[in-house]
Parts: sequence; structure tokens; C-alpha cells
Amino acid sequence: MFPFSLGEVSRVCLTSCSKTYCAMEKSKALFTGLKCRECGRLYPAVAIHVCEFCFGPLEVDYDYPAIKKLITREKILSRPRTMWRFKELLPIEGEPTVGAQVGCTPLVKADRLAKALGVRECFVKNDTVNYPTLSFKDRVVSVALSRARELGFTTVACASTGNLANSVAANAASAGLKSYVLIPADLEQGKVLGSLVFGTNVVAIHGAYDQVNRLCSEIAGKYGWAFVNVNIRPYYAEGSKSMGYEIVEQLGWKLPRHIVACMASGSLLTKLHKSFNEMVKVGLVDPSEFHIHGAQATGCSPISQAFKANTDIIKPVAHPKTIAKSLAIGTPADGFYAIKSMRETGGSCEDVTDPEIVEGIQLLASCEGIFAETAGGVTVASTKKLVAAGKIPRNESVVLCITGHGLKTQEAIAGHCGQPRLINARLSEFDEKIYQADNKK
Ligand SMILES: *Cc1c(COP(=O)(O)O)cnc(C)c1O
Ligand SMILES: [Zn+2]
Repeated sequence: MFPFSLGEVSRVCLTSCSKTYCAMEKSKALFTGLKCRECGRLYPAVAIHVCEFCFGPLEVDYDYPAIKKLITREKILSRPRTMWRFKELLPIEGEPTVGAQVGCTPLVKADRLAKALGVRECFVKNDTVNYPTLSFKDRVVSVALSRARELGFTTVACASTGNLANSVAANAASAGLKSYVLIPADLEQGKVLGSLVFGTNVVAIHGAYDQVNRLCSEIAGKYGWAFVNVNIRPYYAEGSKSMGYEIVEQLGWKLPRHIVACMASGSLLTKLHKSFNEMVKVGLVDPSEFHIHGAQATGCSPISQAFKANTDIIKPVAHPKTIAKSLAIGTPADGFYAIKSMRETGGSCEDVTDPEIVEGIQLLASCEGIFAETAGGVTVASTKKLVAAGKIPRNESVVLCITGHGLKTQEAIAGHCGQPRLINARLSEFDEKIYQADNKK
């Protein structure tokens, strides 16, 4: 049936029937399989992620004409307010069995932030309140684990900079799946506890994320677990598209003129691009000009440095040094494609220092009442630079993707927000030490 060999690992269906390639044959799904981003070769929808001919990354491919006939705005709006209202464009065959409540986070019209940034209109896509673990990773994990179950896996795992570990641990717990999460040993307390509490197996590695990731590739090959961002990465990555779909719906079925996303591997940014193109392709939105901008922390900014140097060649960062640990990936898997997306859409890229990240967190908090983690500080501070540099014109509109909650990275701003003023429980003390002190002329 297929004019090529896949090697022994993926020849046999991983669901219970053990028939060769049956995962593809029996699929009534609207996704048609996997396709190599480089050479276009097709593969069945199993747990593989690299083209065995050219080593290009595999990506989920869909039957867009069929989807166009099936979905309408009305149908989408009639469904529950979760990311799965866009299920035709997500790569599972049945209904989601993990993370069915994820998504549909608020899109906040941020007038005070717009004023502070010096731009006409600003929106915040607030994934700090994503369910259940307060980051956009709940989107990717809900797709990855639902698909992992369809493929017959019972143990799930990941290489993580923190948020992915939290989400895999929580969603695996509620689905009754066994889980292992591997993290760099120097993560924030909140991220470590935020995995341990679910009873997952947390393995901390001496070293940076790249070393964690390399080890995970070896484990995945050896034990046959579903590593959400290794062997089932093509499905996992598609979950990020839901953030783009929701933004378009929440803007009243319009593409954002400008959008800023922070980058670790660069996957989210490329999937926002894919989501906008798909919505046009299936007739959910009219085409219009849009620009996708990327943001990184200067202490680990391989994508931003390459973009600014006007090259495609990404120089790995061996020793990331930034408070934005969730973005500290020295060898970004999708960096090349992220640069392509930014260039193709006439977007731009910026990176910001640790003090700028702290300021970004405080600016968002004080203007909009949203407490973002360091990655959100990166997005806000980078947007400020992009506006100042004219890359985002002052008379236009921008959406900021705020991807994780600040309570998980408290270390980053401890000592930067002051202390509570301590008094005894006496009105006279309040009068004197607080009210009168605050109202002295
Ligand atoms: C993982 C993550 C990102 C971006 O990840 P990509 O690898 O670029 O898709 C952004 N923000 C937060 C908070 C994250 O945890
Ligand atoms: Zn290929």
C-alpha cells in the first residue's frame, strides 16, 4: 500500500488490532496522516515524528475540502466553550478522552496596556487561566494524550521546561495513565511542586533542556512510551493551533493584524501561522493581512539572534541564562520554521533582558490585573520594543499571547514588588502609619 518501508517500529498498528498500517486505514478522521514538511512524503498516523528519507519533521495533514463542507461558524458556536469546538482541525479520530475541558480562555481588550505600549488597540489572550494547569501547554497535552490513548499507549512522558511537565502530570492523573516527566534540575519551586503533587514520576536531570530532550529520545526508543514532545510530537504540536482559532473567533471572526508570541522551540508561533491559514482555507474567515512576531529572552535567544542576523542558521545556546526558564531551549526544534513564519508574514522578532522581563510582568499586572509568568513578561516587554521600533505601527492592533501563570515563577519577581506594611490591629495605627502617611501633602 505504501511505496516505502517505515522500519520495524511503526509497521504494526499500536492499537489492539496489530494490523499493519490499520491506524490509517480504519481512520474516519478528517486528518489523512502525517506528511514530511521537507519532502512531502506521506506516512500513516502512528507514533513517528521524523521522515526516514530526509529527516524532516512530520506534520499532521488534513482533508481540507471535506472539513470545509463540514464546519460552519454556527456549528462551532453551538458547541461547549472548550478548544474542542474546533475538533475537525485537531488530529484525533474520536472524541477527546483527555483534557475535554481545556481552552476557550479569555481574550481581554487591554486598553490600559495599549496606552502604556503606545499602540492604538491591544488584546491579551489570557492562557494564564487555562484548565487545568494554568498554561497554554494544557492545549497541546490534551491533544497528545487523547491521541496517545487512541494509539494504545498506557504510559506517557515528556521532556519539559516546567509547564509541559505540570500539564502531562495533571492530565495523566485524571485519565489514569502512568506518567514520567523529565525536567532540568534547576526549575522553579512552583513548577516542580506543580508536577509532584499529581503523583507523577518526576525525574530531574543535571543539565539544560537539550540534554533532557536527548535522553528522552533514547528512552522513547527503548521503552515504547508516548513522549508527547518526541515520538508523538506531530499530534502534540497541533494543539497549539487552538489558541489561534479561538483568537480569530473572539475577534469576531477576523484575523489579528499583529500577534506576538514568545518562543521556546518555536512551535506555538508556527502553529498560530498554520491556524490562520487553515481558517481561511476552510472558509471560516476572510483573508486579510496579518503579521506574526516572535519574542525571546536575550539569555536564550537563538531564534531571535538568527532572525536579526537575517540568516536561517540557528546557533545553539549551550548554557541558557535567563529567568524565563520555560523558554530556555538552546536548540529550538522549530526555530527554522518560526523564522520562516515571521518572514513570510512580514513579522519581526525581539528579545529582552531579565530586568525587562520583570518590568513586563509588572506592566501587565498593573494595567490589566493579569499575573503572568516570566514568558508573559517576555511577550509584553518584546511588544513594547516592537512598537517603539515601528515594527508594530502605533495606529494598528495587536494581540499578545500570554502563555502561563505568574504564581508558578514567583522567584523571578520576589524582591521586585515591595513588602506588605506591617501594623498591629489598632485603628490608631492604621490612621497614623497607613492613612496619614499616604495622604501627607
Ligand atoms: C512551552 C511554552 C511556550 C512556547 O513553547 P514553544 O516550544 O515555542 O511552542 C511559551 N510560553 C510558555 C509559558 C511555555 O510553557
Ligand atoms: Zn522527508
